[in-house]
Amino acid sequence: MTNLSKKLEILGESAKFDRCSYINTNVDNFLTKQLPGIYNASTRDGCTVPLFKVLMTNKCSNDCRYCINHNKHSFNRVEFSPGDVTSIFLDYYNNRLVEGLFLSSGIPQDPEYSMENMVEVAHKLRMDHGYQGYIHLKILPGSPYDLIKRAVSLADRVSINLEAATPEGMENLSTTKNYDTDILRRMKWIKRLLKGNKEFSPSGQTTQFLVGADDETDKQILERADWLYREMDLKRSYFSPFEAVKDTPLESHEEPHPKRSPRLYQADHLLNSYGFDLKELVFDDDGNLNLDSDPKYVAAQAHEEHFPVEINEASYKDLLRVPGIGKISARRIIQSRKLGKNFLKLEELKDIGVVIKRAEPFIKLNKNYQATLEF
Ligand code: SF4
Repeated sequence: MTNLSKKLEILGESAKFDRCSYINTNVDNFLTKQLPGIYNASTRDGCTVPLFKVLMTNKCSNDCRYCINHNKHSFNRVEFSPGDVTSIFLDYYNNRLVEGLFLSSGIPQDPEYSMENMVEVAHKLRMDHGYQGYIHLKILPGSPYDLIKRAVSLADRVSINLEAATPEGMENLSTTKNYDTDILRRMKWIKRLLKGNKEFSPSGQTTQFLVGADDETDKQILERADWLYREMDLKRSYFSPFEAVKDTPLESHEEPHPKRSPRLYQADHLLNSYGFDLKELVFDDDGNLNLDSDPKYVAAQAHEEHFPVEINEASYKDLLRVPGIGKISARRIIQSRKLGKNFLKLEELKDIGVVIKRAEPFIKLNKNYQATLEF
């Protein structure tokens, strides 16, 4: 194995711990089996895209307690040059093994050094090789403004990982990263840069929360996400379940329930995409979502005052509150009504994609209740 291949194996493997923007799975087919750093990325609309996902280096001076690269871990530390990453990526891309690049890095010295190397890769691809495809650059905590500006001018998407919902939560995870100055301040800069220029990172900025590494509640996490959508123009939040990685200070820490992250995604979708107010979500006395039921259904049960919804009159927003009615079926109801349709039977709703069993207790058709609100 060459030196470069060895590095690729190590740095491609390390990159899998960053979930921001995608749900990762290793691409597993006969072409990619022997090739590290290739991950399937699942987009929001359900498509799967293979990406080259790698770290510039696993050297890091930070002490994030959940991370394999934390500064006290004694293991094989390696580093790519920008030229290395550029040529490996182009090799994969030209052989149709990947459709885009996701680049992140440890921070061996000050963030400027690592961020500069990452920007250099993007610059080489765009300017020297005319590459026009997808690039996602991680913005490293504490990066300087001018490098962030260069990053957003070259990348389709940028992200800076928040990991914790509160400054206190971050203090429990790392003593070397400052929540307000190293992260939130950079998010604000990105927001300002993107606002003034449509060419800059057209897919916007995203972030990742690490769920269950600390005792932060679902309510705290969703409050922060909701604030980020309003204050930072954040496009999406990712809720990665904490994994207890061997040789890290949190290797014995309990991992979260497997349903926790999926419930957070569902609740977040209501806030970011369905127009729900945070106050409409229901949390238990500990501040967590119900693991056994979808948050939209739980919210509907708790807000009887919004129901039943008259299908033949309700606004798009009110239709979206109904369990069993998603964006596509709500749009179809509105479009059908515009064409003169008056819905009389549940079967007619079923035909356009409404999940009748869920929706029935919450709707009326031409003033007729379809079921009683008994839960
Ligand atoms: S900054 Fe923290 S999370 Fe990132 S590589 Fe270093 S130790 Fe890991």
